[in-house]
Amino acid sequence: KTDLAERLAMRVGLAEEPPTVHALDDVSLQIAEGEVVGLVGESGCGKSTLGRVVAGMLPVTSGQVARDGKDIAKLKGAEARAMRLATQIIFQDPMSSLNPRKKVIDIIGEAPRLHGLVKRGEVRAEVERLMGLVGLDPAMANRYPHQFSGGQRQRIGIARALAVNPDFLICDESIAALDVSIQAQVINLLVRLREELSLTLLFISHDLSVVRYISDRVVIMYLGRVVETAPTDRIFDAARHPYTQALLEEIPRIDRRGHRFSSVKGEIPSPVNPPQGCHFHPRCPFAMDRCRIERPVLTQASPGHSVACHLDGGTGRPLSEAGVTTGD
Ligand code: SF4
Ligand code: MG
Repeated sequence: KTDLAERLAMRVGLAEEPPTVHALDDVSLQIAEGEVVGLVGESGCGKSTLGRVVAGMLPVTSGQVARDGKDIAKLKGAEARAMRLATQIIFQDPMSSLNPRKKVIDIIGEAPRLHGLVKRGEVRAEVERLMGLVGLDPAMANRYPHQFSGGQRQRIGIARALAVNPDFLICDESIAALDVSIQAQVINLLVRLREELSLTLLFISHDLSVVRYISDRVVIMYLGRVVETAPTDRIFDAARHPYTQALLEEIPRIDRRGHRFSSVKGEIPSPVNPPQGCHFHPRCPFAMDRCRIERPVLTQASPGHSVACHLDGGTGRPLSEAGVTTGD
C-alpha cells in the first residue's frame, strides 16, 4: 500500500498541465447554487479542461453545459454576455494573468468600466471597495503587480474576477504556487467571500488536503473520468475508490514532513491514449481481469456518494452487493 502511495505521490510543483487539451470522457457534473465543489485529480486528468468547459471557454463536441437550465452554447447577445460575466475563472499564476504594465486600479477597474457596470468617475471608488473586500490596502491602487507579494497578486486576481459581480467562481489551482500559510489565507478569504457574496464555487486542485476546508462536495477525476464523488466528510472518512484512497494516504505524509515532495515512481498513463477498461487498472493493487476489459460505471454507493469501481472501495465486494451505507 505504501508503494502504491509512493507511486501516486502527487506531482506538486508540476501543477501546470501539459499544453494538450485532454478529452473528457462522459463526465457529468452538477453544481447546486451556493455549493462549493472541489474537483481533484493529478496533472493531466482533465480537471482544468472541465473548468474551462464549465466556464464556456472551451466548446463541447458532445453533451452540453447548462446554467439555470439553459444550454450556454445557445445563448445569444445580452444573455450570452451576462452568462460570461456571471461565471469568472481565477487561474493559478496571477503574475502571468496580470498585465505587468498596468496599475492595479486599471487591472481591476477595466472590466466593470468596459461593461458599463460603473460610471467613469466612480471607477476608483469601486476598485478601492473591491481591494478592501479581498483584504488589500486600497492605498496601493496605483501600484504595479510586481510591487505585490504572490498572495497579494492572487487577491488582485480575485478582486478583478469579482469586479463584474459573478455568482459563480471557478478557481483553477488558484493557490498552488503559494506557500502553505499564504494558501490558507487565500482559502479563508474565499470561504468568507462565499458567505458574503453567496458565491457558488468550483475549486480545482491537485491537492485533496487543500479542497477539504472549502468544499461541500468533492469530485475525484482520473484520466478524463470522474471516479468518485461524495460529500467532503465522506471522501475523507469513507472513500471507496482505490485511487481516492491512495490520494488520501498521501496527506499525512505531506503534513508530517512539513513540505511537499514529488516522488512519482510509476508512470501516469498518457491521457491521450489511456488504458482500456478501468483507466486506473495499471496502478491499482486490486485490479482484476474484468478491470482490464470493462469500464466501471459511476454508480451510487450511498446517497450523494458515487463510485466508478468494480469493487467496493477495494474491499473485494462488488458494489452491487455492498448495499447502502449510511455513514453513522
Ligand atoms: Fe481498481 Fe478495478 Fe476498481 Fe479500477 S475497477 S479501481 S482497477 S478495482
Ligand atoms: Mg490544471
